[in-house]
Amino acid sequence: MTPEENTARKIQPDEYVETPEYTTMSIRAARQKQQEERITPDAFNRRLRILEALEKTSEHLAIELDVKIILERIAETIGIALGAKYVNFWGHSPDKKGVSIMAAYGMQKEYIEHSRKEPLPLGVAWIGRSMETGMAWSTSNVRKDPFLPPSWLPVVTQQNYHGLLCTPLVRKESTVGGMCIYYEHVHDFDYFEMSIATIVANQAATAVENARIFNDLQAERIKTTSIIYSLNDGLIMYDSEGRVLFFNPRAQELLLVSGDAILGKQIDEALVKKDPLLENLFNIATAEYEDYKVKEYAMKGHSTLTLEVTRIPVRDESSNTIGVMHVLHDITPAKELERVKSNFIATASHQMRTPLTGMRWAIDSLLGTDGVQDPKHKKTLELLSNTTDHLVQLINDLLNASRIEEGSLGFSFTLQDIAPVVEKTIANLRINADQRSVQVSFDKPEDPPALVSIDAEPIELVLQNLIDNAIKYTREGGFVHAALAKKSSVLQLIVKDNGIGIPEDEKQFIFNKFFRAKNAVRHHTDGSGLGLFIVKSILEKHDATIRFESEENKGTTFFIEFPLEEEKMPKSTETKTKEKQQ
Ligand code: ADP
Repeated sequence: MTPEENTARKIQPDEYVETPEYTTMSIRAARQKQQEERITPDAFNRRLRILEALEKTSEHLAIELDVKIILERIAETIGIALGAKYVNFWGHSPDKKGVSIMAAYGMQKEYIEHSRKEPLPLGVAWIGRSMETGMAWSTSNVRKDPFLPPSWLPVVTQQNYHGLLCTPLVRKESTVGGMCIYYEHVHDFDYFEMSIATIVANQAATAVENARIFNDLQAERIKTTSIIYSLNDGLIMYDSEGRVLFFNPRAQELLLVSGDAILGKQIDEALVKKDPLLENLFNIATAEYEDYKVKEYAMKGHSTLTLEVTRIPVRDESSNTIGVMHVLHDITPAKELERVKSNFIATASHQMRTPLTGMRWAIDSLLGTDGVQDPKHKKTLELLSNTTDHLVQLINDLLNASRIEEGSLGFSFTLQDIAPVVEKTIANLRINADQRSVQVSFDKPEDPPALVSIDAEPIELVLQNLIDNAIKYTREGGFVHAALAKKSSVLQLIVKDNGIGIPEDEKQFIFNKFFRAKNAVRHHTDGSGLGLFIVKSILEKHDATIRFESEENKGTTFFIEFPLEEEKMPKSTETKTKEKQQ
């Protein structure tokens, strides 16, 4: 068997070969041998020196940060203590197929560079074998060792060494490198030296792994920072005390605030007093947001931007909240488009309302006692009257929706009983209900009435839409039932019908502008799809909520909840009226 063939041979972990010329063995074999030998005083003193050197090597880990310098210092310290000629550390080549020198003590530069240019294949020679098996291997005389390929003998001779020990650097069961100790003369490695080499190798492995983690983190940090820096949305991050930790360039641009001025600071009133430009940041930082919910913020001062602000809690690995992030999204262009659109609708509706009112007046007078007498003509006029009514209703809906969107629908709140408003609305819709033979009933609450802070006019519009829908979407002979009841901190109003219901897959859209469910279109062809949008928008202004339960062909119930004044913070009605009007 040639030496080349030998290198490829599978070596047993406890292999130990001893001849008059060389011994070669694994660390397990050395341990076995150690147990059979007695230690001399000289050997004992040498071991003490080595242990002292070991203590020193651990210091390098604590002081230095650069992995190459740490390894060079360790190599030097341990090399001197052991009386070795060279010590070097090996790492994997980029393709992981070979190994080359990372740092060395006592070795010529050319040899180190050569190993980098032509890495040793993994599994070959002592270092390759050690890194592949994850085990320390030694030879007392490499030149006589049959594991040395003859082609390498000239290099070994030039390097002028005989004894060689290679130890893997192991981290979490994977080999991250290797360390070799070279002696000029023939040298029998004992278990003690091998163990020391293993400890040093472990220290070096920690340094290599730390450097790798540090580099990975650094790369990750650079990646994340560059993503955040190039984002088209503003990002502000605060710690748990509300201090600004991070403020990306886009946030600086949107809020017209420089990051340097506020990093590390809590944005409070005192700061805004000193620098009025911080007002917008202060408003955003101190406003109440629900997590992950989007809220609009119209910039104050010179800026005319409208932002969408999302609050995102920042959590550590154990899900503890350690801070908060605000994402700022500029929606000014979309807002502008919406404004132009609603302006157009408002103007067009205004223009159409006047001639329509005239038409309605003319039709009414033609239908009067002095008007058309021919029953056929009368019928046509009645149809025309209905169509005009629908058109007027549509135009009113369009106008109301655009006023709501623009925010020009003013509110004037007073504390009052809502029951009369419900009664009035039902009375107004009685004709509609009778025409469709729908029974409408109302359950008034117990005395004394629970008062809520409302603006009666828009609330009438809300009730009219809800009750009219309930009548409209109920088959002949059906019922509509309204009820008011006090429920802990709210006054609940329900509008219930046993009509066509809302299909499950369309429920999520019914508060959207212009949306009409398929069954509603089939059942009642007329409708703008604006009613519920108006209802929801008006109720929001009242701090009231609306939800519904519905089953197709069974019926629908809308639940509206108004906050009760006495359950709220003790504030005078007057103050509240002013606040809401603002
Ligand atoms: P519309 O002019 O179509 O009535 P709304 O905005 O008032 O518009 O209502 C939107 C859609 O919600 C309706 O088209 C219908 O599909 C559904 N809807 C509202 N109220 C009821 C109800 N009481 N019963 C069944 N469907 C309803």
